[in-house]
Amino acid sequence: MSAQTITVIPGDGIGPEVTEATLAVLKAAGAALEFDERLGGVTALERLGNPLPDETLDSIRTNRIVLKGPLTTPSGTGFRSINVAIRKEFDLYANVRPVRTIVPGGRYEDIDLVLIRENTEGLYVGVEHYIGMEGDPRAAAESVMIVTRFGAERISRYAFEYARRHGRRKVTLAHKANILKYTQGLFLEAAEGVAKEYPDIQWEDRIIDATAMQLVLDPYRFDVLVMENMFGDILSDLMAGLVGGLGFAPAGNIGDQGAMFEAVHGSAPDIAGKGIANPTGLLLSACMLLDYVDQSDVAGRIRAAVDRVVRAGTARTVDLGGSATTREYTLALVAALG
Ligand code: NAD
Repeated sequence: MSAQTITVIPGDGIGPEVTEATLAVLKAAGAALEFDERLGGVTALERLGNPLPDETLDSIRTNRIVLKGPLTTPSGTGFRSINVAIRKEFDLYANVRPVRTIVPGGRYEDIDLVLIRENTEGLYVGVEHYIGMEGDPRAAAESVMIVTRFGAERISRYAFEYARRHGRRKVTLAHKANILKYTQGLFLEAAEGVAKEYPDIQWEDRIIDATAMQLVLDPYRFDVLVMENMFGDILSDLMAGLVGGLGFAPAGNIGDQGAMFEAVHGSAPDIAGKGIANPTGLLLSACMLLDYVDQSDVAGRIRAAVDRVVRAGTARTVDLGGSATTREYTLALVAALG
């Protein structure tokens, strides 16, 4: 098999540490990948004066597949999220976040769910402004939620296709159409229409707040969940919590022309540079990337190694209550690959 070249953006904070660990495991597992490493985020701003340099964008345009470490986004002021910029630039409209139990003995056993979040519309389009003058006691700020029929149908169809491709039985749309009658009403109507094209997949719609409660009370009633951007952002973290937190949560941002894979966690500035970050989120994201480029056999071997090492408990990182460094955990994974 000829090697697939991918763009790798190590990112900020713990990004370079978890990226180094991930690439080491990919190489040890025999992944047929070439890595084109590029800068992005605060690191790129400091070194090249631009958080999303042209050379990084050009590399993504050429390779169309990206493995990305977390990028720091300064809150309130400063530049807008680079993650959002890349998703928009390449129209990566489906954010796919699987969660699966790896460590037994937690609150829930055998969780295996997938959340599919619309990635390009909703409140996160960034259409917001102030109303009134600075210092005016009546000043306000306003954000606009945008839902198009095209976007809602496209993400709903992606969810059903995903369910079919992965042998999953049910798709749940979580929405707030009872209150946001126009935007969420349109989303619901579009999804209902798409559901009719997939009679082989069970379909239901639920109010987002009730869905959040049901996910905690009885997550087993769900399978594939689909929703708009901000709801998906929040519920995917909740779902990561069902399986022990962000350390294990991978994500893929998929479009018709390309894909970007990244861990759900951020750049963890509190532990950056200490060599103790857990690289599993990025490594499992790399496994999604391997599935995407038809190297599922390699992905399967890496997932099995993660399960073996984490379950054995001998080389767990600090966030999992262990004392292993990133490097020790990585070496244990490489050894477990056999
Ligand atoms: P965070 O996920 O970086 O950290 C939250 C907590 O989880 C911290 O205590 C951190 O130490 C811990 N943690 C996170 N990942 C870990 C790992 N792999 N191993 C061990 N512990 C880990 O969230 P935050 O502090 O809210 O955000 C920090 C920065 O990251 C912000 O600038 C934010 O904008 C950015 N961020 C980026 C992305 C992304 O690039 N996709 C996602 C979320 C946040």
